[in-house]
Amino acid sequence: MTAATANAAAVETMTALVFTAPSTVELQQVPVPVAGPDEVIVEVAASGICGSELHGIRHVGFRKPPLVMGHEFAGTTPDGRRVTVNPLISCGACDACGRGENHLCRSREILGIHRPGAFAQRVAVPVSAIRELPESMDLTTAAMIEPLANAVHAVRLADPRPGARIAVLGAGTIGLVTLLVAQQYGEVSVSDLAEERLATARALGASHTATRLSGEFDVVIDAVGAAPTHAASIDLLRPGGTAVWIGLLSSEAGFDGQEIVRSEKRVIGSYCYRPSDFDRAVELAGSVQLDWTTSFSLDQGVEVFEDLLGGRHDVIKAVLHP
Ligand SMILES: [Zn+2]
Ligand SMILES: [Zn+2]
Repeated sequence: MTAATANAAAVETMTALVFTAPSTVELQQVPVPVAGPDEVIVEVAASGICGSELHGIRHVGFRKPPLVMGHEFAGTTPDGRRVTVNPLISCGACDACGRGENHLCRSREILGIHRPGAFAQRVAVPVSAIRELPESMDLTTAAMIEPLANAVHAVRLADPRPGARIAVLGAGTIGLVTLLVAQQYGEVSVSDLAEERLATARALGASHTATRLSGEFDVVIDAVGAAPTHAASIDLLRPGGTAVWIGLLSSEAGFDGQEIVRSEKRVIGSYCYRPSDFDRAVELAGSVQLDWTTSFSLDQGVEVFEDLLGGRHDVIKAVLHP
């Protein structure tokens, strides 16, 4: 045995789900990550599949293969702490970071997009990204903290007054966690094309559900992001109301710009979360209902991705367990 093969044999491997080509993920054995300076290795217990990942592997661009995706996760550190991870890594030194808007940092990176993520047994993360979990919180629930942080941010941007009439367009994961956060301010109506998702929205406390909403709202949150929901988000607003766009399905705007002028309606984009929103989501996760996920083993990952890409919609949030 040469020195080179001895070294190769010494490299420990682990199972990972790797995005390898358009619409394709594969289970592979990859080298276990080694913690760099100021990093720690997290043993992954639960890692949610995001709608943006299904979209992202169909339309290759933002995520480039080969890539281990996975940015919604929880696990344990080598010293036994139970943690979730804020996957948004920023420079910490620029004007945006200085304002607490680390999510708008021009050199931000996201675990599972710009560097290896958590569809694997282990993942290397910056020590500063670790958030310790309360004893009572299970790790599958904790994997929902990242989506919940998106909702905390979107609702904060909408700034609803107590008693506000709120509409959420789309009852996928982001729409449902937005419902959970928004109903602390007022009654929330939810629209979606899939009846089983509307049933989940009702179970989580939506005051009204429909395939298409009518009436007038103080706040409308578009958790779909297609031209028709962009238009609806503005049509459904009262004069002077606020629409927040969080969905990313299409880049088409699709709305009447003059309506924004004549009725002083506001449209705000919402992307990820500030560090403070993420911390708020850690607190909130213990008191809102997040038990509507469906668990699979990481070994089933290829099949789960294929099913979801094929349009399976009885599963709202699939969580993979290595
Ligand atoms: Zn996500
Ligand atoms: Zn920065």
